Amino acid sequence: MRKIAFGYSNRCNARCAHCVAAGDNHEDIKMDLSRAKEIIGDMVEAGVMGISFTAGEPFIYFDDLLELITLCWDANIYTRVVTNSYWAGTPEKADQRIKLLQECGLSQLRMSYSRWHQQNIPRQNVLNAARSCIAAGVKYFVSFVTDFSEKDDTYEQFLRNNGLIFFPEPVIYAGRANFFDREGIFTDYQENRCAMNSYLAPDLTMYACCDAGSHFNTTDFFKLGNLKNDSIDILFQKSETHQLYNCIRSMGITAIASFVGYTAREIVTYRKCELCKKMFDSPEMLKTLDVSTVMKLLNWAR
Ligand code: SF4
Ligand code: SF4
Repeated sequence: MRKIAFGYSNRCNARCAHCVAAGDNHEDIKMDLSRAKEIIGDMVEAGVMGISFTAGEPFIYFDDLLELITLCWDANIYTRVVTNSYWAGTPEKADQRIKLLQECGLSQLRMSYSRWHQQNIPRQNVLNAARSCIAAGVKYFVSFVTDFSEKDDTYEQFLRNNGLIFFPEPVIYAGRANFFDREGIFTDYQENRCAMNSYLAPDLTMYACCDAGSHFNTTDFFKLGNLKNDSIDILFQKSETHQLYNCIRSMGITAIASFVGYTAREIVTYRKCELCKKMFDSPEMLKTLDVSTVMKLLNWAR
């Protein structure tokens, strides 16, 4: 199923210390509204079934967001909005926004939550937003971004105490978080397969990965192209037929790393996106993984 993270604008009113959407040279960019509507029309033609409005803070352009969600609703596209909940300062304010979103047909609201977000936004806002969703019958989900350190225990407890639906999302060490100290990981040797949802940036560049993939600046490994030059369908096809991307989806990052010679001991010292970056943001490695090598990889099993 074709799904995409839609970056209408990368502007945000918070400045979280871990933000993956912001780098050192951050510049606010926004799509033109009529162009964004055309793009959604093209996505409908290309069979896109799910759009997640993300990147900066989508509620900053709330009226535009309502128009875009309505378009998606008319075309039977599943919609999600990812927000920092700054707009939910009181139950009344939260109810008002959620009611409008519900009337436009929003499928799901995802509230970002972490010890970094909550330096900017009171956590009560997240609770207000969730309660408004429950009252309006809109699905919600709290994305609990964590580095799995003890510092996050009280943040998780808040979600548990209030009975909120949440899922822990590992912090991605890219963007501002690139310079964070890493907490040790205590886990097993994992496959690290990746669904790899695409991401459309506000400058209309499309990437095959919506998380750290737009930060692979040495090789631009996940950059598919720009809608100024190619159609959305062509760019999706590029992603869907790329052999290495398909190895990431089906075999996982760990198997690829093992195939190219990383020892098991070394593999478990990397987080998924870091291992991915180590391999695929390296021109030498990409040269090694030429067409004939990828054919061997496809037929390889340990
Ligand atoms: S993490 Fe989200 S809320 Fe925080 S600065 Fe980045 S885009 Fe804004
Ligand atoms: S592992 Fe690679 S493909 Fe998957 S989210 Fe991380 S950077 Fe993207």
